Amino acid sequence: MQPFAAAWPKAELHLHLEGSLVPATLLEISRRHGCPHGLDSLAACQALYQYQNFAGFLQAFKLVSQHLLDPEDYALALRGLALELKRQNVIYAEITLSIGVLHWKKQEVAPVLEALEAERQTHQNLRLAWIFDAVRQFGAEVAEDVLSDALYWRERAPVVAIGIGGDETRGPAAWFEALYARAAVAGLHLTAHAGENAGADSVWQALRFLHPERIGHGLRAMEDPDLIQYLAVHGAGNQTESPIWLEICPTSNVRTQCLARLADHPLPRFWQAGLALTLASDDPAMFETDLNREFSQAAALGLLPEDCRQLARNGFLAAFLPEPDRAAYLRHFDAVSLQSSGK
Ligand SMILES: [Zn+2]
Repeated sequence: MQPFAAAWPKAELHLHLEGSLVPATLLEISRRHGCPHGLDSLAACQALYQYQNFAGFLQAFKLVSQHLLDPEDYALALRGLALELKRQNVIYAEITLSIGVLHWKKQEVAPVLEALEAERQTHQNLRLAWIFDAVRQFGAEVAEDVLSDALYWRERAPVVAIGIGGDETRGPAAWFEALYARAAVAGLHLTAHAGENAGADSVWQALRFLHPERIGHGLRAMEDPDLIQYLAVHGAGNQTESPIWLEICPTSNVRTQCLARLADHPLPRFWQAGLALTLASDDPAMFETDLNREFSQAAALGLLPEDCRQLARNGFLAAFLPEPDRAAYLRHFDAVSLQSSGK
């Protein structure tokens, strides 16, 4: 399969480092530490990446994170991801780091960030930025440490935003209202997973309490015509203010069983309604996908090649980039993508 989007220079904005660890690398890291959680074969690592439900996925994500025991493990994970992104012709990516999980593991942030930064700087032709993520169900108090880390590290590394992820049903957006307000005042960008494993009301809550520039997934907006209407008003056609972007990850939604089957994905409906959308792989290794494959999924759902081209272009429009850099990326994208589509 040669995805037609493969030739386009792309941006990926919803991408977890921990979820990018392919089974072979997970096994290598597990063995290096004496298989502390019993992952001693490729089959065991592959079996970990099959989930009965969203809770099962979160458990697997936690177990993968528990294997990242020292800074070199994180650097190895980034090396694999960076090479994979370059293979796919991704030229800009915002990588989510679960800093909340680092704290939960009682691991020091500084050595991990230093190792990641050293690795990041070795990669030419691929610009990477960091999103520091807190875990919803761990609560707002420990999320404060994630914000503190983001404010400290953005002076030393390309930390562009904060986010929250995890279990929406056990960590409502309202808990994080004050934290997001302070992050915004400090000049950090804002994103939040919402409407992934909880309903449309969770998206409304994220909008009301967090005022995010982007929402991770927003899948369950499909259940609420008023919400779709609201997002359309704040969508791609809004000329007066920045849109509210949804980071759409179709394979993820099916693999975590948040959605029964791909054919039910609301991506085409959202697109027709004029919502501001980007496409991403979320946890590419844990869902056995990549960004090029997600474009094939979008096409399978009925998006036309030109729709997919606009969707890929949106990756740069929605990126947390300085404006001159965004303009340069868009010029490059337009030149290459219009040429490859024969226009
Ligand atoms: Zn995610």
